[in-house]
Amino acid sequence: MSSEVVDYKMESSILTMNFERTLKAPIHCTGTGLHSNAKVSLTLLPAPPGTGVLFRRTDLGPEAEIQAIHGNVTDSRLCTTIGNGKSNGGGVSVSTIEHLMAAFAGCGVENVIVELDGAEVPIMDGSAAPFVFLIECAGIAEQNTPRRAIQVLKEISVGNEDRWASITPSDHFSLRCEIAYDNGAIGAQSYDYDSRDGSFADEMSRARTFCLESDVEEMRAAGLALGGSLDNAVVIGEHGLLNEDGLRYDTEFARHKALDCIGDLSLAGAPLMAHVHSFCAGHAMNHQLLGALLDDSDAWRWIDMDAQSPNRRNAAPQVHHAAAAASA
Ligand SMILES: [Zn+2]
Repeated sequence: MSSEVVDYKMESSILTMNFERTLKAPIHCTGTGLHSNAKVSLTLLPAPPGTGVLFRRTDLGPEAEIQAIHGNVTDSRLCTTIGNGKSNGGGVSVSTIEHLMAAFAGCGVENVIVELDGAEVPIMDGSAAPFVFLIECAGIAEQNTPRRAIQVLKEISVGNEDRWASITPSDHFSLRCEIAYDNGAIGAQSYDYDSRDGSFADEMSRARTFCLESDVEEMRAAGLALGGSLDNAVVIGEHGLLNEDGLRYDTEFARHKALDCIGDLSLAGAPLMAHVHSFCAGHAMNHQLLGALLDDSDAWRWIDMDAQSPNRRNAAPQVHHAAAAASA
């Protein structure tokens, strides 16, 4: 395995970087689960090419592992939860994975083992920035395996006129995320992201999760958001923001929705060469869109990223058999 260390700040695009990547070294943090309020210890470990993102529940034993792929999504109502029924009879599940997954995708790191001693990824400050910081501190090592991508071949749309999402072919990943809330403090916002401009860490990763104060009691009655506070969420009350320090970006809400979408779509297991456009979509719709894409074998194919490099621009992409994606 090559161990060339990549300067994170030099990563102008995850889609012109053609080799798989992992972390240079293990790194560790602790935090609290947003919904469970449980204290949890998180360790990110380097992993060989082809590993993908593999969660390991150290509190359940050495074999309590679960792959972060779309087929393992078990709940997407307020956060994204993956689970399986294979271990200890009750299965292994990990929830609130989306911000960590977005950090991996945004930093172009695909091979990593995530060890947790609890059922929920710590919420940290409600954004992906603390995870980006961890990745940056650990360092990124390029591996010698060419990166593969999922090239989208035709438009797929899900939803209705009130909320929808679509994915269309493109030669790189980009996203337009629109929201429209009746609440005046949020209102209508949109955010455009282009994977080629290297803006993830500065322009999106710091956007925090948000909720309406009126929803908090309802969530707590349902046993959710027990660890939520103004330290890890933007809360909008009747008369505006409750967070005294205000917002981190003018369109922080739309940017956070974009962040969630990038994290959710990374469960494809490889970068998507596609443009995604969503309107008032949440986790459930992100996963519905990804499922509709992956279920349609005419809608995508594997390609080697190597075939997209500038010095091979005229070379035909190397296409892999779509059946390989059944596990993706
Ligand atoms: Zn989120």
